Amino acid sequence: MPELPEVEAVRRGLEERLVGNILTEVRVREPRLRRPVPSLAPWIGRRLLRVERRGKYLLWRFAEGTLLVHLGMSGRLAFVAPDEPPGRHDHLDFLFEGILLRYTDPRRFGLVAPLDAAAEWALEARLGLEPWDERLTPAWACAKVQGRRRAIKEVLLSGDVVVGAGNIYACEALFHAGILPDRPAESLDEDDWARLLAALRAVFEAAIAAGGTTLRDHRTVEGKGGEYRGRLAVYGREGEPCPNCGTPVRRVTQGGRSTFFCPLCQHEK
Ligand SMILES: [Zn+2]
Repeated sequence: MPELPEVEAVRRGLEERLVGNILTEVRVREPRLRRPVPSLAPWIGRRLLRVERRGKYLLWRFAEGTLLVHLGMSGRLAFVAPDEPPGRHDHLDFLFEGILLRYTDPRRFGLVAPLDAAAEWALEARLGLEPWDERLTPAWACAKVQGRRRAIKEVLLSGDVVVGAGNIYACEALFHAGILPDRPAESLDEDDWARLLAALRAVFEAAIAAGGTTLRDHRTVEGKGGEYRGRLAVYGREGEPCPNCGTPVRRVTQGGRSTFFCPLCQHEK
């Protein structure tokens, strides 16, 4: 599932190739994504001004409005040759003045929808802060989770304190911060949050620079895999030595998903 670094890699690729271009055609072969893709006819002839990211969402900004794009579980956007025949999971084509951007999504959990001001406000209201938002301080995070017995990893995945982490980067950030994934979120003090937020920003920054992590589906818009996989410390490495201390990495199931951690480097306090 694309997490913040993968979405950011896609955003940068789109911004580089498409900004300033006019959307000239949209072909919808399969409208049944998470929600049905509405008619995009009104968007033809509009010029793309910029591509922003909020959490794991892409916001395509046109002078006349915004299109919201989410890659869901397995969505992918890629530039392909204009005469490239579509494959089975290639559900949408966006043409920007001769540049073909293709949306592929085997599991069809993605989303393409106009985002009006009210919908953007609602989206904003339910998302946590961006990792680099100045308001995201250890004291703020600490106060935000008071009274919450939920495990810190679950809180990271929920995105309601800080957005962008899925299973991979939640495990990695907790490892680098030395925090056990199943600790109740409310037990973290400001020092813990300071380490955790710093670790999260560091893994995100390194992963963005590497173009993300490719396990299965993720590609940059130029079709390349992300190269952060080789730098994962614990994720997907059950039984392998911890890069810090050599203790075998452990895997447990938490909230129905695999959690990887080092039982020595990550502790209660
Ligand atoms: Zn260790």
